[in-house]
Amino acid sequence: MKTKVGLLYGGKSAEHKVSMQTAMAVIKALDLEKYEIHPIYISEEGQWVKGPQLHGPVSSVKELEFSQGEALPPTALAPTLFRDAQDKGPFDVIFPLLHGPNGEDGTVQGLLELLNLPYVGNGVLASSAGMDKVIMKNIFAQAGLPQVKYVWFIRSEWENETEAAYDQVEKELGYPCFVKPANLGSSVGISKCMNRSELEGAFKEAFQFDRKIIIEEGVSAREIEAGVMGNDYPECSVAGEIVPKVEFYDYKAKYEDGDTALIIPAEISEIEFSELRDMAIKAFKALDCSGLVRADFFLTREGKLYINEVNTMPGFTPFSMFPLLWKHTGVEYPQLIEKLVNLAIERHEEKQ
Ligand code: ADP
Ligand code: MG
Ligand code: MG
Repeated sequence: MKTKVGLLYGGKSAEHKVSMQTAMAVIKALDLEKYEIHPIYISEEGQWVKGPQLHGPVSSVKELEFSQGEALPPTALAPTLFRDAQDKGPFDVIFPLLHGPNGEDGTVQGLLELLNLPYVGNGVLASSAGMDKVIMKNIFAQAGLPQVKYVWFIRSEWENETEAAYDQVEKELGYPCFVKPANLGSSVGISKCMNRSELEGAFKEAFQFDRKIIIEEGVSAREIEAGVMGNDYPECSVAGEIVPKVEFYDYKAKYEDGDTALIIPAEISEIEFSELRDMAIKAFKALDCSGLVRADFFLTREGKLYINEVNTMPGFTPFSMFPLLWKHTGVEYPQLIEKLVNLAIERHEEKQ
């Protein structure tokens, strides 16, 4: 019997396109002898598109591309996803290949919990805590993980005491600093600031994407990442380094230019790697993760390691960091997907 995988992709987020690319790659890599793939497309407006293929398997990327059909709100589609004792329902497992808000942030995970369906990746808590950079950093601080200094504001605080907000940033962090929307990814809305006027522009920009923003002390550091995979016994991959050709690893460098170098394994000492691995696992546990995360670090010239963030649904094309890290650790892309599907089913069975 083939495992029926519901592939959720697209999504109401700035990372919609990235998710589309990933879905294509996953479909290409899945062993169609073992898996039956059912794509479920979520439009940028948040409509769930129930194509004709929702009830039947898809065998090629072409079929995914013509994913047109009746556009429905998720609640209308929910009964289709339902399984009960008699009817196992159309899916054995859901693979939410969604990045950013409304996908990587616990909302979709909550729906899948209610539907009692196993799904790949992090649960509600880890997904939502990981999406909010302020909450994530507060949890990491509590776990004793080293981080750069940060402050945060909600929009009303900034609107009411604009100058005081800038003063606080200058007093506590200084320049350079990074201004980021609290709930986003892929570097969307992030600016590096060198002075007050840039800071003002960066606040305005970041508040366009979110009602909460975080400002961090800017460090001059190498960017080292590692993949963590597992449920109760998480394992860490080799480390990799990102070398962006631009000022920082912005959206364009991530998805458009493609000339950012990934060095795997990263050239770091054994001691540095062992510290990084311990921190990655600690972060995974602190946030109550399951399935997978990519843990991202800053390594300064002095050898100081800071955790920057974890991504609960990291970039997942075969050329993305997370799959490449595991490839170098000995897990090829199709195997990686299989492992994640198995971890999802294992977690679900443990809960029953
Ligand atoms: P996202 O979740 O969008 O990836 P990040 O916090 O990872 O957001 O920031 C994106 C990029 O901006 C990082 O990969 C790094 O290049 C740069 N950056 C972010 N914060 C800092 C910082 N505090 N110091 C130096 N560079 C930073
Ligand atoms: Mg991120
Ligand atoms: Mg990042």
